[in-house]
Amino acid sequence: MSDCTYTRVTFFSGENLPLEMHKARMVQRVHLIPAKERLGVLTRTGNNTFLLPNRDVFLDMLTDSGVNAMSEAQYAAMLMADDSYAGSETFYRLEKTIQEFFGVEYFLPAHQGRACENIIASTYVSPETPTVITNYHFTTTKAHVLLRGGRVLEAISDAGLKTVSDLPFKGDYDLAKFDALVNEAGGPSKIAFARIEAGTNLIGGQPVSLANMREVSAYCRKNGIRLIYDASLLADNLFFIKTREKECLNRPLGDLVKEIASLMDIIYFSGRKLGCARGGGICTPKRDEYLRLRDLVPLYEGFLTYGGMSVREMEAMAVGIRETLDIHNISQTPLFVEALGQELTAKDVPVVTPFGGLGCHVDASRFIPQVPQDQYPAAALASAIYLVSGVRGMERGTLSESRNPDGSEHLSNMELVRLAVPKRVFSHSQLKYAADRIGWLYRHRDLVGGLVFEDEPKTLRFFLGRLKPVGDWQERLVAKFLEEMPSGL
Ligand SMILES: *Cc1c(COP(=O)(O)O)cnc(C)c1O
Repeated sequence: MSDCTYTRVTFFSGENLPLEMHKARMVQRVHLIPAKERLGVLTRTGNNTFLLPNRDVFLDMLTDSGVNAMSEAQYAAMLMADDSYAGSETFYRLEKTIQEFFGVEYFLPAHQGRACENIIASTYVSPETPTVITNYHFTTTKAHVLLRGGRVLEAISDAGLKTVSDLPFKGDYDLAKFDALVNEAGGPSKIAFARIEAGTNLIGGQPVSLANMREVSAYCRKNGIRLIYDASLLADNLFFIKTREKECLNRPLGDLVKEIASLMDIIYFSGRKLGCARGGGICTPKRDEYLRLRDLVPLYEGFLTYGGMSVREMEAMAVGIRETLDIHNISQTPLFVEALGQELTAKDVPVVTPFGGLGCHVDASRFIPQVPQDQYPAAALASAIYLVSGVRGMERGTLSESRNPDGSEHLSNMELVRLAVPKRVFSHSQLKYAADRIGWLYRHRDLVGGLVFEDEPKTLRFFLGRLKPVGDWQERLVAKFLEEMPSGL
């Protein structure tokens, strides 16, 4: 089927449901433990959903990273892998796929997205070029820049930071702000690189328009600023430019990818997201950039023909990246996010709009306004959601920030709980269940309190930090749940 025209399948009844364009032929049993046991588990794991064992989780909506369902073609390709340290055929197949997909010549493999960020930050961030400008930061990107003594400035428009909106491209750069930040940094010569993240993770999987990418690229070319594209969430962004940006409506997805790539100097991605496998890579049309980045791959990742990835993952990634050009594949996450968003909205639960990619984002600031930001409302809400549903979401708020140099909290622009919707994993009734329990929680939101640290790591504290509730609100919440849901499930 040509992907030039995308038609969403709709129901004659008028019901607005996402339709699966695949069937399940292998499944995994999941377990729902009672609320009382969930309280015990949560207490033992320091109220950090990252630390929950999967055996105690019903729906794992933490992330889309490395947990998207793979296709039969991906599994089939894994059987054909060429296991060798140097010169693996598998690597050449992946390299060719990347070259054809992005239309760029040079490819460097890395074991995942943050490994690419390590190589990029090590290469370009220095005392002479300390500044990175981005539409919006990502946790691991920022950590790598800070580790090199650099800083990250954000050029997203104020409108992009409003959780309630009908703007189709909230991830867009504000060009005037970008220009002001370049000047504030001391001019283009002080900029390590500008970065476009599309889709934009921490503000709710919001897309960047192709028109905006063109403008940012033109500005960077005019001013001699290196432009780097984080393509981890490209699949969702492609779907949104195809369906929300008029001029993209009738253009093949492959053309859109190549045009985006042609605007950039360097592209990197997490293969745990793009391509639905595990791994990552950096590619560039420029030989000089390739040569600068290349030396760090054997140092940190592995030889140039595997970069820390297993050959089986590389085969799966190559097929997965080609499958990104199937509109009915990349539609699945956005359509299921929309369905979950609509279910939650119908129960008055505040969510980020417009619905984006990656997952549905519940707005903790509006859900539990009684919890102050320094008691991590998004983390508190994520823990409460687990207690009443067994659903594991992820905090995306102040806890995911790092402290200011003086030790004070760096309060986040948004306090969100992300309910990730990995591709082709959950059924519609499972999402309805999540919405049902979160709807129940919303009716009892007055019971939810804050969290404080018991053990706070210095970097990327959200991964391993341990917290405890302020007071006994979690016991009271579970007691209320048992009163209204006597089965405890
Ligand atoms: C996940 C992610 C990364 C980091 O990738 P990993 O493979 O998890 O290391 C970088 N950028 C964005 C936008 C991401 O979503």
